[in-house]
Amino acid sequence: TQAYLQAMEAARDLNAYIVETPERALQMAEASDRRIAEGTAGPLEGIPLGIKDLFCTEGVHSQAASHILDGFEPRYESTVTSNLWRDGAVMLGKLNMDEFAMGSSNETSYYGPVKNPWRSKESNADLVPGGSSGGSASAVAAFLCAGATATDTGGSIRQPAAFTGTVGIKPTYGRCSRWGIVAFASSLDQAGPIARSVKDAAILMNSMASVDPKDTTSVDVPVPDYTEEIGLSLKGMKIGLPKEYRLDGMPEEIERKWAEGAAWLKDAGAEIVDISLPHTKYALPAYYIVAPAEASSNLARYDGVRYGLRVDGEDIAGMYENTRSAGFGAEVKRRILIGTYVLSAGYYDAYYLKAQKVRTLIKRDFEQAFEAGVDAILTPATPSAAFGLGSMATASPVEMYLNDIFTVTVNMAGLPGIAVPAGLNASGLPLGLQLIGRPFDESTLFRAGQVIE
Ligand code: GLN
Repeated sequence: TQAYLQAMEAARDLNAYIVETPERALQMAEASDRRIAEGTAGPLEGIPLGIKDLFCTEGVHSQAASHILDGFEPRYESTVTSNLWRDGAVMLGKLNMDEFAMGSSNETSYYGPVKNPWRSKESNADLVPGGSSGGSASAVAAFLCAGATATDTGGSIRQPAAFTGTVGIKPTYGRCSRWGIVAFASSLDQAGPIARSVKDAAILMNSMASVDPKDTTSVDVPVPDYTEEIGLSLKGMKIGLPKEYRLDGMPEEIERKWAEGAAWLKDAGAEIVDISLPHTKYALPAYYIVAPAEASSNLARYDGVRYGLRVDGEDIAGMYENTRSAGFGAEVKRRILIGTYVLSAGYYDAYYLKAQKVRTLIKRDFEQAFEAGVDAILTPATPSAAFGLGSMATASPVEMYLNDIFTVTVNMAGLPGIAVPAGLNASGLPLGLQLIGRPFDESTLFRAGQVIE
């Protein structure tokens, strides 16, 4: 814990942490020492972790990297973090992220952008760590924690993992409790770990996953030991390559890495088959209707009355307006506007209802692939390697949304997806591959993912 606290201090320029909690960390570490001495150590005893600012942590700043939650210190602990502390983990602090988890570059944070510890061979320019879990990914990659919690609504665990050469898994929807995690789009949000290896991610998942009466969408499926299948041969496993993920204009390095990944899985005993997921092209537009719709509803609670920031006005409506104008950043406002529009009486059928129907078709595509005997699906994790900091100023919102093209399908279908590092490109930057699995079959993803990492 002391070594990590020192590393955090020395790497503040990355801006990975919003809040450091050194006193609490040392207290927790001392308690771990005692339990180890007594022989009552838990499975994560003394392991120092960073926590994404989206998780409520009792008595510790939890602001979803937003100005509107200024000074908010929850009186309760999220279920996922409670599980980690129960098993002995130590909290180092709260990690930076895109505001309310909306973004793909960690540039929408009220606390400023996070830097990727990786740089290209050609240029010394700062790169983004991806988003929204950019602080989690950067901190893990730079050894500023042993592992981190993260969340994924449309790729926010997997894309930052791919950009930083780390492992990130979005478990099946319902596998981890959402209780105590600030809601973005409730039907898509899932917590998961970012770690430096597949095995570390599996160990963290063992602790994070649980059924929880406080989250009625959490599912009562026994949590296996996720480390158990790691290292087994892939003999008898069928891995699908969906042709719809071969995009026009996709960089050659991505296409090549994808083929290389398939060859590694084949060498490990898997059978590689071509598959079709015909509704893939509708996933991104449907996601950018469903996610903002749910966000606009979830964010209605930030009115200046109950939490954090309040900016006074002439009357209560004026106070709401002033608080929200000052408290939400531009990307969050854009989502609220889109969401309110697609849910409005005149447009509900044309947009929201249609997007929900598309969602069912996307889900069915995956079901058909799995019914045909495919055990997991291999795709690129992102359409490019990490890009330069400052992209928010030059890229349009739609260009930014394209980052999620390979990841949102998985959230729309509620499936588990893992991003694993698959080597470096010619500029020396990490590239990631994604494996998508059957519901509640994270074990297969760890097993096949370890062959690639
Ligand atoms: N980049 C996507 C978005 O901005 C995904 C975010 C996420 O998964 N939290 O909506």
